[in-house]
Amino acid sequence: MNRSCVFLLLYSLTACTSTPRSESENNEFYSLDDFGQVEKVDTHVHIRTERDAFVEQARKDNFKLVTIVVDHSDGREDVREQFNYCMQQANDHSDAIACITAFSAKEWDEPDWAQQSLQWLDSCFAAGAIGIKVWKNIGMVQRDQAGELVIVDDPKLDTIFAVLANREIPVIGHLGEPKNCWLPVEEMTTNNDKGYFTNNPQYHMYKHPEMPSYEEQIAARDRMLEKNPELTFIGAHMGSLEWSVDELAKRLDQFANMSVDLSARMGQIFYQTRENREKVRDFFIQYQDRLLYGTDMGDDGDGSKEALQQGMHSTWLRDWKYFVTDETMTSDLIEGEFQGLQLPREVIDKIYHKNAQIWFGIFK
Ligand SMILES: [Zn+2]
Repeated sequence: MNRSCVFLLLYSLTACTSTPRSESENNEFYSLDDFGQVEKVDTHVHIRTERDAFVEQARKDNFKLVTIVVDHSDGREDVREQFNYCMQQANDHSDAIACITAFSAKEWDEPDWAQQSLQWLDSCFAAGAIGIKVWKNIGMVQRDQAGELVIVDDPKLDTIFAVLANREIPVIGHLGEPKNCWLPVEEMTTNNDKGYFTNNPQYHMYKHPEMPSYEEQIAARDRMLEKNPELTFIGAHMGSLEWSVDELAKRLDQFANMSVDLSARMGQIFYQTRENREKVRDFFIQYQDRLLYGTDMGDDGDGSKEALQQGMHSTWLRDWKYFVTDETMTSDLIEGEFQGLQLPREVIDKIYHKNAQIWFGIFK
């Protein structure tokens, strides 16, 4: 028995005997049991309903939330409707939820589109939104009147990015898709991508060779970042460089204003961990200031509250176990076994909480 355990004995015998490893031997790491005690932020969720089921479970699991509006290219009314849910949630639970808004690109060819979009965004910030998201419709869906795809480095968008940079308002960018999207389903590395692109063939680029390549999508995003070095940019889904921590590291080295969230890409992280755990662990330690935990879970009001909350809890707990322990794990996201990263506490605190405070300026 070491000294900290003796010390604990004075206060609580059970604290020492029931969790001897985390309490007495190993203060460098969190344990699975610390899940409920550590403050956490899920920086990528979509709540599009009035009900409180999502935040209720978040509070139980000690999570705060960033809920995000997405421009599906359905027009201004669709964005407004999502924003209303977003702000209602943020206003009802201002200690636990922040709202990210979006602009609509469907009206792109209107002569005053940029001005109108800025006015809309201004009204969102006045109402309490803390940032904006740009979605993959830019680059993959939205076309101008000449029939050309609207690309994220279009000068018209720079007008908006310049204002946001000046006001230090963060931009989440989901640009492009995972590299798997350009492969046939049977060659994809993760089961969630296999499922998503089977169910959403319109976004499965392997089937649309006339569309820009994966490399062109990434290059367009990189050109936008080169032009906007003052913009606070959070690349959703590991900045669409989810397949290689080496490639992602290059971009993080290149763009000091870029961080990434991990949402919906834990499968790719597990996959790379199965291949080379030490490399992935080194990456998380080296780039600990640039990585934000997120899941892409959401609630649209359909389905039972119980099923929703159970799914949230098990996803959050799975990821916690992966990051804080060195246990051997399996996941339905990939085939085979992989070992948890057991990251140091200060790295966990950054990925789960402190980086959200810094990059989004929230929950301080
Ligand atoms: Zn999302």
